[in-house]
Amino acid sequence: MSTPTLLILPGDGIGPEVMAEVRKVIDWYGARRGLAFDVTEDLVGGCAYDKHGVPLTDETMAKAQEVDAVLLGAVGGPKYDNLDFSVKPERGLLRLRKEMDLFANLRPAQCFDALADFSSLKRDVVAGLDIMIVRELTSGIYFGEPRGIFQEGNERVGINTQRYTESEIERVARSAFELARKRNNKVCSMEKANVMESGILWREVVQKVHDEEYPDVELSHMYADAGAMQLCRWPKQFDVIVTDNLFGDLLSDAAAMLTGSLGMLPSASLGAPMENGRPKALYEPVHGSAPDIAGQGKANPIACILSFAMALRYSFDQGAEADRLEAAVEKVLADGVRTADLLGEEGVTPVSTSEMGDAIVAALDASL
Ligand code: NAD
Repeated sequence: MSTPTLLILPGDGIGPEVMAEVRKVIDWYGARRGLAFDVTEDLVGGCAYDKHGVPLTDETMAKAQEVDAVLLGAVGGPKYDNLDFSVKPERGLLRLRKEMDLFANLRPAQCFDALADFSSLKRDVVAGLDIMIVRELTSGIYFGEPRGIFQEGNERVGINTQRYTESEIERVARSAFELARKRNNKVCSMEKANVMESGILWREVVQKVHDEEYPDVELSHMYADAGAMQLCRWPKQFDVIVTDNLFGDLLSDAAAMLTGSLGMLPSASLGAPMENGRPKALYEPVHGSAPDIAGQGKANPIACILSFAMALRYSFDQGAEADRLEAAVEKVLADGVRTADLLGEEGVTPVSTSEMGDAIVAALDASL
């Protein structure tokens, strides 16, 4: 098999700082597990604008289309706030998502035992939580036409349109069922079929994809409002949740926050399978470029490292190695190692970004 290819785009602010720690992890897999990656590094966001006058060059875009997976740090910063909309750092990220047609956004909500007290919910509700929200990302009410603010008689009316085709629902449902097979084999689909026709179609199509292609996966349906309630009441009942763009936006933020700090949250966006069977994929932490702490060695690299763990699992079929990396993070946290964003307990001195990376690599070593 050929060496898997990875395009790394550290970006701006704390992006390069957290990515430097991911590079240590990648190097460790090459040296200690014989798992070598063909890594290319390039620019995205403000740093690309500084060098090329655009937040993503055509050459970088072409590379992103060719590789097995893209790993991105973060983009943006106050320096770029007044740029024209068309060249803002975020446009680079949006271009990647759009041209790679990344229609399935994966947001895990995973609660490491050592951090269970960070949650606003009771420890026993969140400890050991491990769920995945799959949000449809390229269609639905954020894109449907007609949209706009129109004059109607003597007042204005704001219109957005929820619109889903069967094929759009089918492909994101397949992503969710495929993921479930790599996890605990359970999917809960959420919509509002009680009040929305697009919800009725969503439910029918997800059920059909299940019955015809994934009968081995356990499928349930839930109204999205009830789903929000259940996420707060007893989130451990879920494994994979699949839902549309709007409900997914809300539910994934709520679910992610069950587990604590922004510095801990990874994500993935997946597209259609490529010729080699792997989905087009972009992995990135949920957090931004954190200009308030950039350059100070304070950033928590775990969100970015866990994004790489997702790449191991979902792009490179290395589920056991992803488990190993997540267990290494768990061990480091259990040992009381904390970056500044994770403080809370009395008398704990925070470690730097690179010390956290080193501790995770040491825990990987100890796992052998
Ligand atoms: P942010 O996520 O950058 O920061 C929010 C708060 O969380 C800050 O106090 C920050 O210090 C803290 N934080 C974030 N990540 C952390 C980490 N890994 N370790 C420790 N603390 C961390 O969001 P923001 O301040 O709203 O935005 C800052 C810039 O980032 C803006 O230019 C925004 O447009 C951009 N942004 C980019 C992305 C992305 O690249 N995907 C996402 C969100 C925001």
